[in-house]
Amino acid sequence: MLADYHNHCKPWSPDAEDTMLAMAKAAYKKGITHLCITNHIENCAQTPIFSDQFPPFHDYEGLKREFDRVRAKMPPELDMRLGCEIGSPHYVPEEGRKIYSSPIFDFAIGSVHNLRGKRDFYYLVYPDDFEKFRPEVEEYLDENIALAASGLCDVIGHLGYMRRYMARQNKGFDMMTFEDRLRELFKVCIDRGVGIELNASGLTDALHGFIPEPEVLKLYRELGGEIITCGTDAHETGKIGVGIREAYELLRSLGYKYVCLYKNHKPEFVRL
Ligand SMILES: [Zn+2]
Ligand SMILES: [Zn+2]
Repeated sequence: MLADYHNHCKPWSPDAEDTMLAMAKAAYKKGITHLCITNHIENCAQTPIFSDQFPPFHDYEGLKREFDRVRAKMPPELDMRLGCEIGSPHYVPEEGRKIYSSPIFDFAIGSVHNLRGKRDFYYLVYPDDFEKFRPEVEEYLDENIALAASGLCDVIGHLGYMRRYMARQNKGFDMMTFEDRLRELFKVCIDRGVGIELNASGLTDALHGFIPEPEVLKLYRELGGEIITCGTDAHETGKIGVGIREAYELLRSLGYKYVCLYKNHKPEFVRL
């Protein structure tokens, strides 16, 4: 069992390079057995850069039609599901709820890509002195707590997202210096039945590591966290499926027994 539960395809994700069919074929070729397609929905992000780059998504029927078409073309042993990655659904809860409750999605990742009224962490220039950036990370974690509390997602996507982009500028920080907030976040997650995601995208990027890092995964486990999905966050065929085996090894080494698949927003626990 190898499940990639975070990936993007064009034209649904404007920043993706390959079609859904190409992504499914590449995943199958690499031994992925369970594929959940999760395109960006940034209707709630509330900053001009998002509406320029990620026009509001409304074509539920078109997306479902293409998904059904692709699934029909793939061998039946590839378990394909349709999900989405919703940017900060709690910023505009009524819109977030509309997206989350659409019957076309079995799974929804909730991701804070930007603070309210600010640009995506992707675009920021990070200060040399991390202390100057610390308040933004605190705000980011508080937003993730609010996101988990909103119940408008199944898992929290790439916790510590900015680390991917900081690494490209030879910068970084230790997430465990925010342990109090992480504990609060995981407590809310566990109470609400919201899981977290182990995102492998950093392995093929300047970060050369997972998001979140092992210490954070260890804390989630210690607090009783059990719901976890793994995904590559691939935006091209070359990266789909890459790092899932390594993610499973890491989870096993930290004492995790299960990884989750999702059907109708309910986790299905599969033994690692
Ligand atoms: Zn994301
Ligand atoms: Zn993504």
